[in-house]
Amino acid sequence: MKDVKELWMVLVFLRARKREVEGRLQEAIINLLPEDKQPEMPWDLFFGTAWDCPTSPTSHCVYDRRKDLALDRCLFCGDPAER
Ligand SMILES: [Zn+2]
Repeated sequence: MKDVKELWMVLVFLRARKREVEGRLQEAIINLLPEDKQPEMPWDLFFGTAWDCPTSPTSHCVYDRRKDLALDRCLFCGDPAER
């Protein structure tokens, strides 16, 4: 029982930390985008990991899930997530 409680506490901590880091990353990415490419809300950003992106600051493609539901245009290189 104690192990479960400790694991739960670690998970709660990591989730909170993940949200904090995601928020900072979203804000940093938005500041790098021209105004016409900025998402409506920070959490609209989708950070891909499948494809290298030479112009993205994360080195992977980044999409706007709200405006580009199918992930057809990376905000940095313009390539689709499905290649
Ligand atoms: Zn890209």
